[in-house]
Amino acid sequence: MGVSLYCVGGFVRDLILGVDNFDIDLVVEGDGEQLANLLAEKYGGKARIHERFGTAMVVLPDGFKLDIATARTEYYEFPAALPTVEKSSIREDLYRRDFTINTLAICLNKDRFGDILDHFGGQKDIEEKIIRILYNFSFVEDPTRIMRAIRFETRYGFTIEPDTLRFAKDAINRRLLGQLSYKRILQELTLILNEDDPIPALQRMVEIGVWQYILPEVNLAEISLTKLKRAPVLTAWYKERYLIVDVKMWLIYIMLILSKLDKESVDNVIERYHFDKYAQKALEETFLVPDIVALLKNNINISTSEIDKMLTNWTREGLIYLLLFVTNEDAYNNLVTYLDRKEKIEVKTTGYDLKALGIKPGPIYREILDLLYQYKLDGKINTIADEIDFVKNWLKENNQ
Ligand code: ATP
Repeated sequence: MGVSLYCVGGFVRDLILGVDNFDIDLVVEGDGEQLANLLAEKYGGKARIHERFGTAMVVLPDGFKLDIATARTEYYEFPAALPTVEKSSIREDLYRRDFTINTLAICLNKDRFGDILDHFGGQKDIEEKIIRILYNFSFVEDPTRIMRAIRFETRYGFTIEPDTLRFAKDAINRRLLGQLSYKRILQELTLILNEDDPIPALQRMVEIGVWQYILPEVNLAEISLTKLKRAPVLTAWYKERYLIVDVKMWLIYIMLILSKLDKESVDNVIERYHFDKYAQKALEETFLVPDIVALLKNNINISTSEIDKMLTNWTREGLIYLLLFVTNEDAYNNLVTYLDRKEKIEVKTTGYDLKALGIKPGPIYREILDLLYQYKLDGKINTIADEIDFVKNWLKENNQ
């Protein structure tokens, strides 16, 4: 196409730092949309175009994704607004970015392959472990960058450069974070909470004065540090034990962060941040936890099916949260036995089997299958043959 193509941003930063990063952002000095379509044609992937932002994504046949942007400048019509986009060259594209460490680009054209573009001293700042904005107005244009600065600082053990910190504090004192939509704040908060260890970033947000714009009703110092630290460990254990990929770590942290608030205050937070139905459900489950913890502790001989009755349809995040609060060893073991069986157990009997046994289809099918499930949970029956015997006996006892 005769255009210049660069790999930019976080990928280059992490390449230099020697940190894994599989998000490849490309910037083209030319028509990004056309390049995306061409790539998809040549490699058999799919191109998705977002015209408004001049960006495209190519999904290759093996699922690998490439983000392609047309080099652009963004200017802001008023502080904290969404940017308006204009086409421009790579230098200007890099200039609109948040921090120097994110302004590096690597040229991918054959004749300049591997050349590093370093217009703003990004390599030196990576070496010196410094987070630095590119121009004084940066935080005024986009106050979410304050949260991003804290995230990068704590993730890499870097330090926010003194002038940058001063500009951040200045923007905070001018209440610029208060002008952001809660949606944008939540996006950044979620990114922080999905970091491997978000605790230092949370503490830093309190220290710099960001926290009062996020959840002023929560005093972070009151939240159990032990639980915050154990949450990712327990989640990793859970994911590995049950081979589950999709657990929303950020949500578990939110549940812990809100754990000292009453129902009304939590409802307020839900409304303010427009949490989706799933997050709402998980947050509602947290209010049941104290009673369940007490019940499990006082009934160490509880059956697995009784535990199931309390916890059916709970979110995984809710279950992990519950585990964090169960301190009694027997109660904990009972709960884990329940989780083990719940993930592994499957009722093998089907409607066809019941029909073959001469049972007339109806609500009774559900009843029998539920009973089978409960008996399997309690370890009273195991094989398919056990199941069928159970049904036959049940029929006899119930004169069916
Ligand atoms: P991560 O490793 O967390 O994905 P990243 O640097 O790739 O880090 P993204 O949020 O994917 O972060 O952003 C990609 C690039 O876009 C960043 O490197 C940064 O240069 C730029 N960017 C993202 N958000 C902003 C922002 N609010 N202001 C300026 N530039 C931003």
